[in-house]
Amino acid sequence: MTTNDYDAIVLGAGAAGLMCAAVAGQRGRRVLLLDHAEQVGKKILISGGGRCNFTNIHTVPERYLSANPHFAKSALARYTPADFIALVDAYGIAWHEKTLGQLFCDRSAKAVVAMLLDEAAKGGVDVRCGAPVRGVEHGDGLFRVTFGDRAFAAPNLVIATGGPSIPKMGASGFAYDLARHFGLKVVEPRPALVPLTLGGEDVLFRELSGVATPVEARAGKAAFREAALFTHRGLSGPAILQASSYWRHGEPVTIDFLPDAAPGWLVEAKRSRPRATLAAALGGVLPDRLAQTLAERLTLPGELGAQADRKLAGAETRLKRWTFHPNGTEGFAKAEVTAGGISTAGLSSQTMMAKSVAGLYAVGEAVDVTGWLGGYNFQWAWASGYAAGRAL
Ligand SMILES: Cc1cc2nc3c(=O)[nH]c(=O)nc-3n(C[C@H](O)[C@H](O)[C@H](O)COP(=O)(O)OP(=O)(O)OC[C@H]3O[C@@H](n4cnc5c(N)ncnc54)[C@H](O)[C@@H]3O)c2cc1C
Repeated sequence: MTTNDYDAIVLGAGAAGLMCAAVAGQRGRRVLLLDHAEQVGKKILISGGGRCNFTNIHTVPERYLSANPHFAKSALARYTPADFIALVDAYGIAWHEKTLGQLFCDRSAKAVVAMLLDEAAKGGVDVRCGAPVRGVEHGDGLFRVTFGDRAFAAPNLVIATGGPSIPKMGASGFAYDLARHFGLKVVEPRPALVPLTLGGEDVLFRELSGVATPVEARAGKAAFREAALFTHRGLSGPAILQASSYWRHGEPVTIDFLPDAAPGWLVEAKRSRPRATLAAALGGVLPDRLAQTLAERLTLPGELGAQADRKLAGAETRLKRWTFHPNGTEGFAKAEVTAGGISTAGLSSQTMMAKSVAGLYAVGEAVDVTGWLGGYNFQWAWASGYAAGRAL
């Protein structure tokens, strides 16, 4: 028997689905929120090292990737970081800015999930977890969802099942399959905010596993000044994770190892410390093991005093534009988010509703909108969930 006393079924009780269901519920809509996991908001719980970096006060549309960079503008403008901060404050959840506008809970991400569940309860949302979605059909103006051994129907359906990053947590490409089933296009999904792997000549840098240093990392037209970390497989750290979202196979990633160094510093070092080696000079400004490795590759043996200024200037240029050729990423298993997803071309930027299927919505990471590292992805989940919740 099909239960059809709902106005909307939201598939996926993550960040976007919870927000969407709560907002619609509080507007008087009868909402059913379904999730195959035993627990709602699992990614919220592990996010930000368990403290959930729930927004970023520097949120602007330019800090999101999408085939249509304008798409996110409307939703982000209508539900801002200040709106989410007001909600968090109303629940007495203590928070702090860690760095670069990133807001974290002082204590636990559990408080954010509890808050969203409370908001959903205030809207009378019927939350059901722990059974597979076996089928979704559409006809006679109703979406029919088979969830475990129960069947439900409603005139509106929201796809909020996220992207395939971290499959061991139950993440999958379900949203894309469903979107395609309804004739929506999907922009090729790819791992983003993900460590890059090194091979070939770069493989020797893997010996530096564990070494971190502040850099400016560039991929495509994007540049990020934060820490880079060498790993046993390649490169990670915030600067690299950020750059990874802009990196495409076959392209280089360029690293400025000394973004704060004054031009001509190495020639200056030759004047002030002519007996020092290049490794020693670099060791003054970089971690020792990294300084050693870079100096070996710059092949300027002996004392600085014996080097021509021209060669030192050349070494300085290379240190500012060190080119790595990643041979891949660590994939969806390690990606914090998925770039690409349900094409925004088929969705209304005001409501998140599909242009070609009345009553069908898509929100959150499932959509081809991907934020920078640092709270931007949750802000998109809240904002897109809110936009759909207001429209249902
Ligand atoms: C380790 C990690 C740390 C992160 N830290 C941060 C951070 O600090 N700040 C930040 O902004 N972003 C962070 N992110 C990214 C952020 O978690 C996501 O962008 C965000 O959760 C997306 O929200 P969503 O609701 O679209 O999807 P999700 O939160 O992934 O929710 C999707 C929901 O759908 C359910 N689902 C999936 N498939 C099905 C199915 N077939 N049937 C039924 N239900 C299904 C899932 O169980 C899940 O509950 C982090 C991600 C990871 C992996």
